[in-house]
Order: sequence, then structure tokens, then C-alpha cells
Amino acid sequence: MTSNHLFSFIAEAATLPERPFLETRQGRKLDYGDMLAGSARFAQALTKLGVAPGDRVAAQVEKSPEALLLYLGCVRAGAAFLPLNTAYTIAELEYFIGDAEPSLIVGDPAKHEAFRAMAAKAKVRAVETLDVDGKGSLAALAARAPGEFEDAPRGADDLAAILYTSGTTGRSKGAMLSHANLASNAATLARYWRFSEEDVLLHALPIYHTHGLFVATNTILFSGASMIFMPKLDPDELLRQMPRATVMMGVPTFYTRLLRHPGLNREATRHMRLFVSGSAPLLAETHREWQERTGHAILERYGMTETNMNTSNPYVGERIAGTVGYPLPGVTLRIAEPESGAALPKGSIGVIEVKGPNVFSGYWRMPEKTKAEFRKDGFFITGDLGKIDERGYVHIVGRGKDLVITGGFNVYPKEVETEIDALPGVVESAVIGCPHADFGEGVTAVVVKREDAQLDEQAVLKALDGRLAKFKLPKRVLFVEDLPRNTMGKVQKNVLRDAHKDIYVR
Ligand code: AMP
Repeated sequence: MTSNHLFSFIAEAATLPERPFLETRQGRKLDYGDMLAGSARFAQALTKLGVAPGDRVAAQVEKSPEALLLYLGCVRAGAAFLPLNTAYTIAELEYFIGDAEPSLIVGDPAKHEAFRAMAAKAKVRAVETLDVDGKGSLAALAARAPGEFEDAPRGADDLAAILYTSGTTGRSKGAMLSHANLASNAATLARYWRFSEEDVLLHALPIYHTHGLFVATNTILFSGASMIFMPKLDPDELLRQMPRATVMMGVPTFYTRLLRHPGLNREATRHMRLFVSGSAPLLAETHREWQERTGHAILERYGMTETNMNTSNPYVGERIAGTVGYPLPGVTLRIAEPESGAALPKGSIGVIEVKGPNVFSGYWRMPEKTKAEFRKDGFFITGDLGKIDERGYVHIVGRGKDLVITGGFNVYPKEVETEIDALPGVVESAVIGCPHADFGEGVTAVVVKREDAQLDEQAVLKALDGRLAKFKLPKRVLFVEDLPRNTMGKVQKNVLRDAHKDIYVR
């Protein structure tokens, strides 16, 4: 490889321009030639708008082929792509725009005026539009531009993207991702998961997040493979397209929703070679049910915005339910004592720390925050708590901030949740700590039960008695219809904690 430019790897994999790259539900088709020319046109348009290498381009756009061409155009023009969750309100966007100081904002035409006002305030030079159909002022400018572009020279450490973390604990931070971070992880995943140009990926994830944008799209681009692009999770549509696909990547909700569909069976998944899950914990129960219904063992992997992917269950070998597998090639992972950072022996629970070419360089304009989250020897402190078992598989027991400390004892929510989930009639549960006058925090279980289940608080407490140490037993068990989740399928424990903060105070 002669260059570390992310796009040079993509161009190298695009050997046959007539090979399919992407197809939408509406029947739009792009081949690799269209990808090369389209990304060049967007790079030309950006350059014309004054976007220079090193600049940021912020985009709050719906999922469309053009949104991907914009991402690739940014990378080719040497700018950092800054995708923003389409659910963010104008007020929320003001923070990101003020913080990132992009030279261009691309947004939905319906919000054009609001974006212009924001741009004027933040001294952003240009505002352009791109809508859900891939149309708008930026697309029009690109359509008029030549389909060739000489990529701006970029070094391995230059930024290809800035992704803001979801910010459930305090301010959202911009994770700076370099060309080398993204390229190394895409190459690793393509190899580890055995991608080839014959693969067809079912892509129903959002493209403003690392999962849909980098894990899914970059892996496809690095393999010369293709994808079926869908606006959002729709089980009917996924099953309709499945006979033409070979791989699906989803968050756990994809799997639980598909399991509720009567059409999911061995025949429907016969053409598939791989199902990947990540971004939130997959219940061991879901893994087992899926295997029974389809014969496929879901491959669970673990990563985060800041680090790209860190671990994966094996492609060949046992995919163990409830684990996230082994560290990926090139990634060093250790379990450390959260305070001191001292390495802990196998089997102990501690904070997961990682080092490797996949790990980001820091948070945008937050040197102090960056310093606090790296150890002196370069390991990034993920904030996830976990352990490594005798076979080398990594287990995640929860986020550090979700740890419950009751009467001075640590309670790992996952351990209690696993016991509750195993009870007949329980669909799933979330264990949180709520302020408690005597104990500091009281272990509190929030449970979703099956509609027909005869289960109440006393029944759950009785079933847990003797299965968990006394201090780990919930002080209260509450029933809800659904757990609050964000778009990536993560249970929002902060929302639950907030909703029940007075439960022991009243
Ligand atoms: P994000 O930056 O939005 O991708 O969120 C990253 C976080 O999601 C990680 O730090 C984990 O807490 C969680 N996560 C990702 N994958 C998994 C997984 N397979 N199992 C459990 N948690 C996961």
C-alpha cells in the first residue's frame, strides 16, 4: 500500500466499475463506477464551496446514497466528515456547530433557514441542502461537477471524521478519527469476517453512527462488496430482501424484532452466511432463540465510537452467547483496576482498556478530557466494565457509570439482570442504583414481563433469594412495558435512574 489515505484503500478495492455497490428499496442502483465518480463530484463541489483539507463538514442528513457520497467526498477532499444524528433539534445542533466550527453545514432543506441563522452566528461560511431523496443544492452542485478528483494528500494521523459521542453522561464529546484509525479497522473486519466481493449486506442502520457508517459501509467498500440500503429497521422488508443477501449487521433490537416475525425460519435465512450484532448487549436468550429458529449463531462484537471495533466472537469457532469474543487482530485489551490502572488477573472484573491502530487520537478541543481517559502507556480507558474468562473471551458487565454501589459493596447490574432474565415470564430487565438514605444506592430492578406472565414483585424477590448474595438483591422490583432505548438499541439507564430517583425517598 502506497498511501494511508482512507480513500486509496477504497479505490484499490473498487477494481471493477461495473460491480454493484448499493441498491435502495426504491430500486436505485449504484455500481462501483458510480461510487468513484459520485464521490469525486461531491469532492469537487466541496472544494468549490471553499472546503479545504483539515476543515470540518457537518452534515445532518437523512440516509441516502448521496449522503454516503458526501462522506466519501469529504474524505477525498481531505476534510473531516462530521455526521449528526437526524433526531437532534436545532437547539442541540448549535452546540455541535459552535464546538466543531465547520466550514460547511449540509442539512435538510426543511431546516435551511434555521441552519442559515445558526451558521451566521457561528461564522460558518457555507450552508447547503441534501434531502432524503439525495436532492438539494449540494447534490445539484455535485451533479454539475466533473466525475474525477485528485484526492487531497493526507497522512495516517490526519482526521477523516469527527463523531460526537451520544453524551448520556454530560456533554457530548467529538471523537477525532484518523484515516489510519478507520482504514485499519475496516481492513481488519473485512478479513476477520471473511468478506468478499460476492457479499451483499442488509444495511438498515443509521449512517450518522460508527456502526452503520464505518463498521458496515467501510467494510463493504474495503471488500468490493455491495449492500441493500434501507431507511430503517423494518422486519417485513428485511425478510423480503434476505434471500438476496449474505450478511446482516444490526443492533440487538433487529434480532428481537425479527424473532417476533412469523416469517423468520431456516428457509428465510438459508442464503445468509453471517449475522453480526453490536452497539448494545445481546441477551444470551436472544442468541439461543435465534440459533434454534434459523440455525445461525449470531456473531456478537464490541466497539465504541472512540475505538472502532475492539473484539469479536470468532468467525470459525464457538460464538459464545453473552460474550463479545476475543480482541481483534492488532488490538491489545486488558482489564484494569479502575482507579490505579493496575492490570488485574484473568477472571477479575475491572475496566476494559484498549490500545491499537483503531483507537482514536482524542476528543476535539478537549485536551484535559483526552488526557484523563488515556493511561500513561497509551491505553484508552473505555469506561466499560468486564472480564476475560479462561478461554480468552471478553465479557462486558456494564458501563462503569452504571455500577451500583450499595452499602459500600459493588453490584454489577449484568449479574443481577442475568438472574432476573432467566426467570420464567421475564422478557428483559435493567438494574439501576437509586439514591437510598441508608445504603447510598439501592439496587432496583426494572422488569419487562411477558403479557401472560403471572409475576409480581414478591415472586421475583422470592425467586432471586438464595441465587444472589443478599447485598445484590433488588430492594424494589418495578414492572414496565418497555425499557427506554436510544436509536442504537442501548437501554438508557440514565432515563430510568431519573424516573425512579425518589423511589426510596418518598
Ligand atoms: P457507541 O460509542 O455509541 O458505539 O457506544 C459504545 C458503547 O456501547 C460501548 O462502550 C459499550 O458500552 C456499548 N456496547 C457496544 N457493543 C456492545 C456489546 N456487544 N455488548 C455490550 N455493550 C456494547
